[in-house]
Amino acid sequence: MHSSAGRTTINGPTVTADDASADFFDAAAAGTLMLRWCSSCDGWAAPGTDWCPQCPGQELQWRAAAGTGELVTWAVAHNAPHPAFADDLPIVSAIVEVREGPWLNLRVIGSTSALSVGAAVEIGFAHPDEGASYPVAVLPSDGGAS
Ligand SMILES: [Zn+2]
Repeated sequence: MHSSAGRTTINGPTVTADDASADFFDAAAAGTLMLRWCSSCDGWAAPGTDWCPQCPGQELQWRAAAGTGELVTWAVAHNAPHPAFADDLPIVSAIVEVREGPWLNLRVIGSTSALSVGAAVEIGFAHPDEGASYPVAVLPSDGGAS
């Protein structure tokens, strides 16, 4: 089980799972990042992918990821893009390349001074009071995560 985000009080819009994403969000609630995995070529794809981007394989399965990655790029929002973010400004939205290769769009938890291209992040999880748990990118300098 991966560590949770250093801060457990993350504010944001309620996330709602549907039939296609239920397995992903059930795993997030248990602290595991799930990706799509292709049994034909042993390739990985981002959640929400319906067919393999690397071969003709069309039978992707959910498979647990290592839960680490690095920052590719990010944006720092000083104005709330949704009222539910108002108490958390500034918020950081990033593209993270996870160890398996896919790029995920994740919210970043940690000091904006620690943002740098290639910075190592650990996938943590927000567990809001309402709605589904979801993955976030945690910068190791935040709270001394192991
Ligand atoms: Zn494939």
